[in-house]
Amino acid sequence: MSQRAYLDYNATVPVRPAVVDVITDQLMRVGNPSSVHREGRDARGIVETARRQVAGLVGADAKNVTFTGTATEAAETVLSQGLTRNGVQAGAFLYVSAVEHPAVLGGGRFDTDCRVILPVDGDGSLDLAALEQALCSHDPATGMPVVAVMLANNETGIIQPIGEIAALVHAHEGLLVVDAVQAAGKIAIDITALGADILLLSSHKLGGPQGVGAIVRASDHITFAPLIRGGGQERSLRGGTEHVALIAGFGAACAEAMENLSDQERIAALRDKLEEALSAMVPGVVVFSQKGPRLGNTCCFALDGLTAETAMIAFDLKGVALSSGSACSSGKVKASHVLAAMGVSASLAKGALRVSLGWGTREEDVAIFLRAWADIAKSVRQKVVS
Ligand code: PLP
Repeated sequence: MSQRAYLDYNATVPVRPAVVDVITDQLMRVGNPSSVHREGRDARGIVETARRQVAGLVGADAKNVTFTGTATEAAETVLSQGLTRNGVQAGAFLYVSAVEHPAVLGGGRFDTDCRVILPVDGDGSLDLAALEQALCSHDPATGMPVVAVMLANNETGIIQPIGEIAALVHAHEGLLVVDAVQAAGKIAIDITALGADILLLSSHKLGGPQGVGAIVRASDHITFAPLIRGGGQERSLRGGTEHVALIAGFGAACAEAMENLSDQERIAALRDKLEEALSAMVPGVVVFSQKGPRLGNTCCFALDGLTAETAMIAFDLKGVALSSGSACSSGKVKASHVLAAMGVSASLAKGALRVSLGWGTREEDVAIFLRAWADIAKSVRQKVVS
């Protein structure tokens, strides 16, 4: 079988080999973390070790980490009027950036009518003046304003100025929820230095297994209303028996990601090389958010005349796995709400493709991609000329 190049790390990351070992080892054991016997206590120990590892990745206190099934569940859980800080409850309105992942853009349990969508600039960076205006018009008598902005975007890789956003939100006594799903493991994160009140994380975006995520609070003065109550697990913040093996894998992946953070430089160099060749081979290629601070692993590009759906299939047949827009919307290629918010024309956006690299990406993967791109771009140009 010919070699394939997996270049869709922002959709999901291959589980790191050391993490696979941790998961398989745990699957061979028995024990419910809520049981008092030795097997139960051992399982509890595994969960608590993982909690410390997850907290360690983002500079948080382990007691403020709550495991969930996914980051989507984490968002649905925290985004509600059940959020409090020092006993002050969230107001009726939720302020979200226009480029959030659907998990956050949907607004969780806030009323759809009470969602205020904040604009971004041409690079996808939040319009700080618009945020300030929204915060100024928030009536504090209704409760504190809750703002949700992602740290790094899944489609373009743009990194939001969270420090400045946090300063504005806190000046208005608001609470800031930061979706750090794509940034975690790719850039260093310290929840306190960042200014976030709550971080959302997903294991499978950083080399851990799918099906486990986390809510991380900056302090226990912040509380949220559980989405799943059940038997009082996770300090009554998320009911249901913990999936010990997946949680153990998530913890191990966080430790691995932290240890290998410097590998991001190698990954960024590969991405830059790919981008240079991409544009050099075909004039007219547009790389989105290239000027802004961006994740080093992501390249979102388009070419007029290219149709993402057709190109994706052609890449797949040539052995390249990549994505168009957000893969989380599963199989269907929809116009990207991220590119639309950035003011990208519908005709260019319909040809947008996303390449994302990671720990397993080698020079050869980039070469396979570029060989495929040469053929695909040639046929697009022939179509445009004829
Ligand atoms: N937030 C971002 C930025 C994402 O990219 C994703 C998944 O693509 C999610 C949230 C949802 O994560 P999960 O798959 O754990 O629900």
